[in-house]
Amino acid sequence: MSDIHVTGVSVYITRIPVRAVHSHGIGDFAGHSHNVILRLDTDAGIVGWGDAAPWAVFTGTVEANAAALHTYLRPLLIGADPFRVEWLLAQADRTVVHCTEAKAAMEMALLDIIGKALKTPVYNLLGGLVRAEIPLSFSIANPDLAADLELAQQLHRDGLRLFKIKTGFAGHREDLLRLEKLRRTIPEDAELRIDYNQGMEPWDAIRRLRDIESFKPTFIEQPIPAAYVEALAEITRAIDTPIMADEAVFTPEDAVRLVRLQAADLVSIKIMKCGGMLRGKQIAAIAGAAGIAGYGGDMFETGISHMAGAHMIAATPNISLGCEFYQATYYLQEDLLAEPFPVRNGKVVLPAGPGLGITVDEDRLRKYTVQTLS
Ligand SMILES: [Mg+2]
Repeated sequence: MSDIHVTGVSVYITRIPVRAVHSHGIGDFAGHSHNVILRLDTDAGIVGWGDAAPWAVFTGTVEANAAALHTYLRPLLIGADPFRVEWLLAQADRTVVHCTEAKAAMEMALLDIIGKALKTPVYNLLGGLVRAEIPLSFSIANPDLAADLELAQQLHRDGLRLFKIKTGFAGHREDLLRLEKLRRTIPEDAELRIDYNQGMEPWDAIRRLRDIESFKPTFIEQPIPAAYVEALAEITRAIDTPIMADEAVFTPEDAVRLVRLQAADLVSIKIMKCGGMLRGKQIAAIAGAAGIAGYGGDMFETGISHMAGAHMIAATPNISLGCEFYQATYYLQEDLLAEPFPVRNGKVVLPAGPGLGITVDEDRLRKYTVQTLS
């Protein structure tokens, strides 16, 4: 309990141009990143920020998440004690189904407020610092592979050593050709990872993945559609390369099923899928108890939610495979943070400031806002 109360809920729908098309097994991302930015005001004068980053073919829609915050969660938040995060999350689940991105935005704004009130970073509210730097992965997803290879070389010069290539959108032969080019282009000390985003059909997946294994990827992510969890378990048993579940695990309950079926070796944990940092830590704990390691995945986020994800990973031993928080730095034409999202020498560096440790550039927020709901 605290003597602070939420007095204002402002919801901004933003459209920020992106630098290139990114193709995935489930569809293309192009034009603009469409986000829902949340600002919570309090009677203590402390402001908390959140970011919901939906993608219609993956987690949900901007419209549903904006409505979740503006129409359904506003009455819960106005007058609430921001310190009662777990209670508010439970009430949010009883108020509106799904909309995990909106709930993640709500949770990060609440924890931002608590951290600022207690003058401590959010990671100290989540168990304390396990790691102060998180290796950053960039996703090779541009259908113009030559453009991405040039960018990958530049990122390698910047110190980045993790590259995840998106496959499963242009056919198996094309995937093999793209992988050959990538392996030839990026230096030996760079790690290669592969993400199908559900782009393979289960009936031919094992034979094709055996071809892919010759490139020695660190892991192969979500080769087949999320619903086929038993088939994913078969693939995991048949293939030597570690298999990662992404779309197949949204919630802690999904993580229990993953463990029960031994359906994957690894899991991608995203605050947008599960509804925040606390749920993400639950997934990491369930997976960790079964020897399954976690990876810090993300959606098409701004620096605000990247930072929430970074605080979660900083305080969670079992999210040990790095993160893919590259969009704020390398994909959006402009981010919303006043100070650039902190990437140094290929790693995300945790800030020392209170709360999320960020300042939102409100002029830039206004510039990219297409609708305000308050
Ligand atoms: Mg993925």
